[in-house]
Amino acid sequence: MKRYRYSALLLFIFGLYAATGWWGLSLSPISGFATLVWPPTGIALAALYFLGLRMWPAVAFGALFINFLIGAPLWVALIIATGNTLEMVVGAYMLRTVFDFNPLFRRLWDTLYFIFVCTLTPVIAATVGTFALVLGGMIAEGQILFTWSAWWIGDSLGSFILGGFLLRWLFKPRFVRSRNQWIELSAAFSLLIAANFAALMQLVPIFNYLPITYFFVPYLWLAIREGARAITLASLIVSGFLVFETIAQIGLFAGQPLLENMFLSQMLLGILATIFLVIAATMEERRVTNALLQRNISELERALRRVRSANKAKNDFIAILAHELRNPLAPIVTSLEILSLDKGEDEEHRRLRERMASSAQTMRTLLDDLLDISRITRRGFRLQKSRVDLRQIIQTSVASVEGLMRDRKHTLTIIPSEEPLWVDVDPMRIEQVLVNILNNAGKYTENGGRIMLLSTRTKKEAVIKISDTGIGIAAERLPYIFEPFQRSSASQARAGGLGIGLSLSYRLLKLHGGTIEVASKGEGTGSTFTISIPLIHAEQLSVALPAGKELGARKKPTPSPLNIVLIDDNEAALATLEALLETEGHTIQTAGDGRAGVQKILLEKPDVAIVDIGLPDVDGYQVARSLRRQGFTGMLIALSGYGQDEDKQKAYAAGFEHHLTKPARLSDIQSILLRAKSAAEEVAEPLMKPAV
Ligand code: ADP
Repeated sequence: MKRYRYSALLLFIFGLYAATGWWGLSLSPISGFATLVWPPTGIALAALYFLGLRMWPAVAFGALFINFLIGAPLWVALIIATGNTLEMVVGAYMLRTVFDFNPLFRRLWDTLYFIFVCTLTPVIAATVGTFALVLGGMIAEGQILFTWSAWWIGDSLGSFILGGFLLRWLFKPRFVRSRNQWIELSAAFSLLIAANFAALMQLVPIFNYLPITYFFVPYLWLAIREGARAITLASLIVSGFLVFETIAQIGLFAGQPLLENMFLSQMLLGILATIFLVIAATMEERRVTNALLQRNISELERALRRVRSANKAKNDFIAILAHELRNPLAPIVTSLEILSLDKGEDEEHRRLRERMASSAQTMRTLLDDLLDISRITRRGFRLQKSRVDLRQIIQTSVASVEGLMRDRKHTLTIIPSEEPLWVDVDPMRIEQVLVNILNNAGKYTENGGRIMLLSTRTKKEAVIKISDTGIGIAAERLPYIFEPFQRSSASQARAGGLGIGLSLSYRLLKLHGGTIEVASKGEGTGSTFTISIPLIHAEQLSVALPAGKELGARKKPTPSPLNIVLIDDNEAALATLEALLETEGHTIQTAGDGRAGVQKILLEKPDVAIVDIGLPDVDGYQVARSLRRQGFTGMLIALSGYGQDEDKQKAYAAGFEHHLTKPARLSDIQSILLRAKSAAEEVAEPLMKPAV
């Protein structure tokens, strides 16, 4: 079966080779054997390329048959056939194996290599063939060069024009174009055919001096827009026209003698086909590279989107985690505060309670940091700036780390700037940064170390240097130290922390237009952190006011008893807060959801309502709005796990006067309640009356 197929193919190729060869020789044979039109090389090249070199017998017998038929002695025909076969086998071999040739002609390299093969291999056939004719005494000496040239040109063009067409079209027979592309393709080919007719009829006399002019535009159009497939077809069409015109003695090459004209027309064809195939391949290469680039860009964009969404998911997760962990922390903090009110507490209990309170406080700070970092990353962060002398913030920051410094027996030296350091900052945030750096200095320095804070100013900036004699930072970690979640060895890990303090400080300072830098000569050599914050210009200072926390400025010893309604769906939180406030002497009523809470408040008309925001039925904002709508004028305090600025703004907009972030400390609640009482006393009585 296989052999049968092979034989059938051999016979088919042989038939094609012999028929087209016969036709070619009948057109313009030179010395009876060489011709300028020789399609068999194109057929043989395609056959051997696609079907394999084993198809060589078809070529050999085809060549032998024709040459014998037109009158060569058998031995001459045999030599010619050997040359012709060798030519095709070498050509097909070079295309199939030597280089990574691709008949799509989408790379310039493929085209140049194909041209090289098509011009090189016919040298074999032309040389062997001419030699055989000389040996057989069939051509005169004077005809040798002419015969050789005709042989070479005929074979080259056969391979290049017909071979190129067959390779390109058979390699990928199917092609798809959109409707518009079909229209354009048809228009370009119509123009090409029109150009051929114009040349045939010699319609533009001036073009006749340079016949390439006729074909230039349609060829260029096809090369640029339609690529190699169209160009190989175009060359075949032009070749058909030119051969026909020349043989028929009409058109551009109508003069005498026929042979010279055939030379001219075939050379024109060769030049056209070469130039425009090269242009087409260059354009294809550009298109392919562009498409590849585009694909790479799209892949990169997709990857970037994935990273962004993963990053967003991470930040969302951190925010939710921090929030969810705050909820259970609230009753713990409150319970500990209730316990602290017990005057008869024994020493052991006090120690345990204080340890628990300190752990709860650490956890609260960690959760706050986590929330802050995720908010800064999500750009949902607003600073509450005011103009302050940085030395004040330094003072309060130092006060909050004094305990740690004492516990670890560090010597803390403060060298303040003698001149004021006026800056426009969010004092809480800058304090957070300083406390963080000082805490680190305390944490990462062996007990009994020395820590120094120096503040100075340059022309434009306030500069704070915090140095320690601690464990230092290895050089390879320095570049990454301000990245989130950067922690070092286990011994440092034991110092506690999530590895976000420095990155948070870095980002907070950046939000202020400031910077933080670190220097350390390596492990064991201590570290120095340098913070710079832009100073305010002198002219802006006229309105600058020293910052001072207003909170608790109005001093009243203890709040007088109030009626308070608490709304929270978390029973533990509700019970502990209730117990805590009752120990303060207040009267407490509770509700577990929003609707019940609203009813209770409207009924009881308490002085104060403390409302959790995340309620199961209606949220705290709706509770506040509904209460205000129905005329409730008592104080509304929102209690929520989310302590971000926008949450506070939302709460105020809904009608709350205060916002507490869970877990709320008794001292915070107390200071608000103090104001509630005084406000209630100041406000005219009728306002407390229910609205009708
Ligand atoms: P945390 O202290 O919670 O781990 P930070 O972001 O504050 O997170 O610090 C990140 C890391 O930088 C720390 O784990 C520690 O390894 C290193 N580091 C910070 N400050 C110092 C310091 N003063 N001396 C030595 N190492 C430090």
